[in-house]
Amino acid sequence: MQPDASPQQTGNVRSTLERLGYTTSALAYLGPCYYAAIPGDECSAVPEPGLIARLRASGALAGIAALEPLAGADLAARARKPAGTEVRVGNVVIGGRAIVIVAGPCSIESREQLQQTALAVRAAGAHLLRGGAYKPRTSPYAFQGLGRVGLQLLAEAGSRAGLPVVTEVMAAEDAEVVADYADMLQVGARNMQNFPLLKCLGKLGKPVLLKRSPSATLEEWLGAAEYLLARGNDQVVLCERGIRGFDPNTRNTLDLSAVPALHELTHLPVLVDPSHGTGRRALIPAASRAAVAAGADGLCLEVHVRPEESISDREQALAPADLEALMPSLTAIAAAVERALHAARPRISPERWFPSGDYSTTCRAV
Ligand code: PEP
Ligand code: MN
Repeated sequence: MQPDASPQQTGNVRSTLERLGYTTSALAYLGPCYYAAIPGDECSAVPEPGLIARLRASGALAGIAALEPLAGADLAARARKPAGTEVRVGNVVIGGRAIVIVAGPCSIESREQLQQTALAVRAAGAHLLRGGAYKPRTSPYAFQGLGRVGLQLLAEAGSRAGLPVVTEVMAAEDAEVVADYADMLQVGARNMQNFPLLKCLGKLGKPVLLKRSPSATLEEWLGAAEYLLARGNDQVVLCERGIRGFDPNTRNTLDLSAVPALHELTHLPVLVDPSHGTGRRALIPAASRAAVAAGADGLCLEVHVRPEESISDREQALAPADLEALMPSLTAIAAAVERALHAARPRISPERWFPSGDYSTTCRAV
């Protein structure tokens, strides 16, 4: 819209387009006058030729400065925001100079497991706490997560540890409840192209961690991010977590070439998940160092207070001590690439947390 367009003109343009079946969203991240009109869920028709000219002539588009056709991943393109996007999750900024560590268990298993892990990852220098409550499992017979109880445990552990929390949302119908408990919503690899979910998260506006599907090209991945951006949500962080390879030595093939390629293509921050990317505890430290050297804006690491007891993804679970041991080399590599690790939170003494050593464990999943 023109900078001096009246709110009434903006309202008229939006309602005209919405009557034609478009959904309109304010793109506040580009500036106060930017809006997108995208085909709405009920919009089957392509606008007939000459429609825009007719609308202009009728005055229904008064106040518009320019109409620009959008295609592909236009809004995700680096040229839109050459300085890059910063994503704010609680008091943590992803995409600035500081490198962010997201750590926590694959699955939330119990209050005790999560609180102990939260305390330990904070002490080791992590900035965000992760943990899955709704788990996408390959087998329907495997543990599916604690669901809403898990969300409550995560919010509780995060607030006690002073760490913002990120957890996966698998379905659009769960998005609001997950958003009530989490600071950032993860779209898992298997759901990267769950378009109803992406549309819903675009409108919700909470920060999203969008993992790469194991079979997605960068173009497909950015197309998925575009669903969020086109609905006004630019708080999107991409997470490389390995793509399907042919070598059984690693669970996936961690595509670190994607990191500089994405920085060239898009303004969105990029995290790397060496846990799912390698699937093997022994490989994670080296892959983490390589990711920081490649320019990642942070790491997502699976850490369990007792790795050998992990219910899911046991082979790739680090112990808190492994994370602590990794931090000095990450700090050194960050400095070598003109970055720094995000400031660590001061340690919390375990006595303050667990005065009686007593947990009323809500649920022990088996
Ligand atoms: C996870 O983060 O635990 C997870 C299931 O990741 P992905 O979607 O990358 O497999
Ligand atoms: Mn996992």
